[in-house]
Amino acid sequence: MSLRPVIETRPARPAIEGAGVHLHRAFGFQDPSELDPFLLFDDFRNDDPAKYSRGFPWHPHRGIETITYVLSGTVAHGDSLGNAGTLAAGDVQWMTAGSGILHQEMPRGNARGQMHGFQLWANLPSSLKMTAPRYQDVKSADIPEVTDDDGTTVRVIVGSFWGRRGPVDGIAADPQYLDVTVPPGLKKSFRIDTYRRTFAYVFEGTGTFADASRPAGVLLDKEVAGREVTVRDPSGDRTLVRFGTGDTVTVQAGPAGVRFLLVSGAPIREPVAWHGPIVMNTQEELRTAMTELRNGSFIRSAADQD
Ligand code: MN
Repeated sequence: MSLRPVIETRPARPAIEGAGVHLHRAFGFQDPSELDPFLLFDDFRNDDPAKYSRGFPWHPHRGIETITYVLSGTVAHGDSLGNAGTLAAGDVQWMTAGSGILHQEMPRGNARGQMHGFQLWANLPSSLKMTAPRYQDVKSADIPEVTDDDGTTVRVIVGSFWGRRGPVDGIAADPQYLDVTVPPGLKKSFRIDTYRRTFAYVFEGTGTFADASRPAGVLLDKEVAGREVTVRDPSGDRTLVRFGTGDTVTVQAGPAGVRFLLVSGAPIREPVAWHGPIVMNTQEELRTAMTELRNGSFIRSAADQD
C-alpha cells in the first residue's frame, strides 16, 4: 500500500454562471493539467430559487463530456438534437458532447426550494473530440450502492468499486466517480489505481485526509506540550482535496461523519485549447468551432458522423 499524499486542500469559490446561477467552483478555467482528465467541477447547491432558477439557457459544447449529479430538486434539459429529459434527485447524466450540441439545463428546486447538484467536465482525447454526441441518463435506483460492515456507504456512479460496477460505460477518461459516506469517527481507506489522477470533494460533515507525513487519525491540537504545531484543518463542506501518486486514499471522519465525492481518471496528457464550453487541442480548432457557431454549421447531422 502507498498512501496518496494530499497535494492541496482548498475551498470551492463562489461564481456566477449561465443566466445568473450562483454556484461554487472547486476547479476550472485555470491549469487544465492539474486534474487531467477533469477540467472543471461546479457545486450548484443553493436554497434560494432566485439564485438558480434562471438556469443555463441555450449554450454549445464541443470536445468534452459533462457529468451532472443531482442530490435535490431536478434539472430539466433539452438539446439541438431533440433529446430532452429531467434529472431527479440521485440521478446522473453523462453527456458526451463530442462534435457538438446546443443545449439548455434548467434547475428546479424541491418543495422547500432547495437545488443541490454537481457538474463535472471531463476532457475527451483528440481522437474522440469530434465523436457523435451521446447521452447516458441513469436513474438513482440503477446506481449500485454498497455498504461495508463498518457502515461506510459507496454509491458507484461510474466505474468499478468493491465488486460493483456503475451503469455508465464507454467513457474515454476511464473515470471512477464515487459518492462516499463514512460514519462519525471512522478511519477508512479506499484503493484507487495508481495511474489515476484523483480528487475528493467534501460536501457534508468533516474529515481529515491522511497525508504521507501525517497518518490518518492523528488530529493535532494547536498546542502540544506548550509549543505551536502546524494544524491541517479537517476538510469540511465545499472543500476540494487533490491527491498525489499512490494507490490508497485514507480519511478520518469527523464527529458528524463525512460525505464526499471521490473521483479519478486516466490523464489524457494532450494540449488543451479552451474557450468557455468548448475544449479542443489547438487554437485553430477553437477558431473553427467559433466560425461554425456563427454560420450555423456547428451541429453535425447524423450523416456527417463517422
Ligand atoms: Mn452545458
